[in-house]
Amino acid sequence: MDSPGLQRLWRLHEIDSGLVEIRKRAAALDPGKVLMADLRALENHYEATGVKALSSELTDLELKQKGFEEKIKKIDKELYSGKIVNPREVEAFEKEKDMFRRQRAELDARVLELYELVPAATKAADDIKKKLDAKRAELGDYQKRVLKEQERLKAEFSRLSAMRPEAAKAIDPGLLVRYDAIRNNQGGVGMSKVTKLSTCEMCGMKLPVKSIEIAKEGRVVTCEACHRILYFTEGLI
Ligand SMILES: [Zn+2]
Repeated sequence: MDSPGLQRLWRLHEIDSGLVEIRKRAAALDPGKVLMADLRALENHYEATGVKALSSELTDLELKQKGFEEKIKKIDKELYSGKIVNPREVEAFEKEKDMFRRQRAELDARVLELYELVPAATKAADDIKKKLDAKRAELGDYQKRVLKEQERLKAEFSRLSAMRPEAAKAIDPGLLVRYDAIRNNQGGVGMSKVTKLSTCEMCGMKLPVKSIEIAKEGRVVTCEACHRILYFTEGLI
């Protein structure tokens, strides 16, 4: 038979173990470690395509070539303006022109190479970008779900916490002190049921007949192994 005192203590225990369970679940919530690792790997793949460096190198070289072309055009303009008639002066201009042509030509090989490399890298980067976008969306959805679960746990924690003072008030003060001491030493769980197999539900220890008898009478008895107060209730487990 359950005694009213132990029944009330069991109700408090259910609140307390509910709070313990919520804390455990909240602590075990995964912020999306696997998805974040996938995302980092994709970001690294994206970097590895070299698309940014190659594109800016190409832009840079094209600008340089344009600069040389403009300088050449400027010289041509001077040469054909009719103002320069002195052969030495003409020669100097031609030499300068050749120098700019050479400098421009030196860049040609790399520019041609980049014309091959940039589109290939861009294509690879675009493919990865699609995967990145999908993975970011997936992580966003997942994190939203985690947040929702966090809020649900918080609300449940508040609900149970609010119930605790009333439930604790109903317990004999001496028993409550003892129960709280056990609970504090046993990971927040201060009571355990006697199972059909005559074991302690929490630690699995086989219980002595004497302990079960005391528990059946509704008197306070603890498990010798885990020290929790035993609760006997007919046919539940
Ligand atoms: Zn036990």
